[in-house]
Amino acid sequence: MTDGPKSNELKAEIVVLGGGPGGYTAAFRAADLGKQVVLIERYPVLGGVCLNVGCIPSKALLHMAQVIHEAEEFGDNGITFSKPKIDLDKVRSWKMGVTKTLNDGLAALAKQRKVTVVYGMGKFSSANSIQVESNDGTMTAVHFDQAIIAVGSHPTKIPTFPYDDSRLMDSTDALDLKNIPKKLLIVGGGIIGLEMATVYHALGSEISVVELMDQIIPGCDKDLITPLFRRIKKQYKNIWLETKVTSIKPEAKGLKVGFEGKDAPESELFDSVLVAVGRQPNGKAINAEQAGIAVDERGFISVDKQQRTNIKHIFAIGDVVGNPMLAHKAVHEGKVAAEVAAGHKSAFDALTIPSVAYTDPEVAWMGLTENQAKQQGIEYDKAAFPWAASGRALSIGRKEGVTKILCEKGTGRILGAGMVGTNAGELIAEAVLALEMGADAEDIGLTIHPHPTLSETLGFAAEMISGTITDIYMKR
Ligand code: NAD
Repeated sequence: MTDGPKSNELKAEIVVLGGGPGGYTAAFRAADLGKQVVLIERYPVLGGVCLNVGCIPSKALLHMAQVIHEAEEFGDNGITFSKPKIDLDKVRSWKMGVTKTLNDGLAALAKQRKVTVVYGMGKFSSANSIQVESNDGTMTAVHFDQAIIAVGSHPTKIPTFPYDDSRLMDSTDALDLKNIPKKLLIVGGGIIGLEMATVYHALGSEISVVELMDQIIPGCDKDLITPLFRRIKKQYKNIWLETKVTSIKPEAKGLKVGFEGKDAPESELFDSVLVAVGRQPNGKAINAEQAGIAVDERGFISVDKQQRTNIKHIFAIGDVVGNPMLAHKAVHEGKVAAEVAAGHKSAFDALTIPSVAYTDPEVAWMGLTENQAKQQGIEYDKAAFPWAASGRALSIGRKEGVTKILCEKGTGRILGAGMVGTNAGELIAEAVLALEMGADAEDIGLTIHPHPTLSETLGFAAEMISGTITDIYMKR
């Protein structure tokens, strides 16, 4: 007689379904507020897409790309390095080391807080229980008083593409660095597509990008995209805008891709194709109907400002509740859900969720974009400080950057800001704080920024609005 699958029962005051940045934050916050918490994660480690196959490994590889480019470009300034030798196995294990350190850190944080972690795929079986199936077949029934759904999203697939061919990649495959394709096509000129283009270009691939809209990173103002576009246009073989991929056919020598668009060829052969055309929520994969939770036809679960679903004791956070699908949004929503579940009067009322493309140069923006201001008929004053006038930008050899600020006409209150340039992703945080604090251009301009830094450029942009700028000449 063989043993049948094992089964367990657990009881939780709060169960969190999904162990990504939103989920583990919610679990830890709830535990810190005195709740007894069970955290369910389908993969054998915590951290979700962001830590394991997203934000963190991509940032490690983007750092590698930056080192390669900086060494290469410094030749013009009198220091020449030899061509890099790439040991892909070593790069991969370094990248995995970075994620493992954080995985281990999260497991330790869960232990310190006495959060029980159950590894396996969890699905609702009622409005007060979730069944978890672990890899070894063990079934665990988790009975809960309250639940927080944090199940994230998955890459959008285009049904006619041949996904069973390993030369067709999604972002997870691309981060695996199985090989360096000679000719790589990237479908989708959004954030994932352009970040991975940066990595593979540094590794030596010839890059082509195809984007449906008339601009890469379509959600961002065009003037912030232009410096990035100019640089990558020189580096990459092709950037086809307003172009559609009509077919991808596997052939012995590569993937034959058909195009429809103004400048693209009818078809071309590539060694690999990376598809990065957005992500879809995972709301349909958890038997939400068993708990009576409303999920829309795309898989989104709608919530109120306290992160409650239509079922009062069940909350949802992160990618599964809507765009933007960003870890830093999920983390804040996770805290709100945990606090409300623990009886606190919290609500998600952030004025903005910043966006960053960690390309080279980086692009970051927050608050109102200029496009949105125009569409909404909001009157604004605008200033754009050119980094060519920043001593720090010149000293690092990157003068193409721009820092832009939009302020309300009349009051000078900051409405939005954006930057393109080295470290823009770090610099945008100051603008976010200024918006949250209700600062105006004078507040920002009178704030003493250390010299010489790139952070000064936000102060200078604000001074351009106030009329007090001396670092450039403005006609009066
Ligand atoms: P995205 O929405 O940022 O970009 C997808 C791009 O593909 C868009 O520009 C879109 O116009 C284009 N597109 C759509 N269908 C197409 C088609 N058939 N052919 C050609 N182009 C097409 O999506 P993504 O880059 O896949 O990223 C997914 C999610 O992950 C986003 O929500 C993004 O914000 C998030 N993410 C964020 C970061 C970051 O914060 N740095 C990094 C990676 C991913």
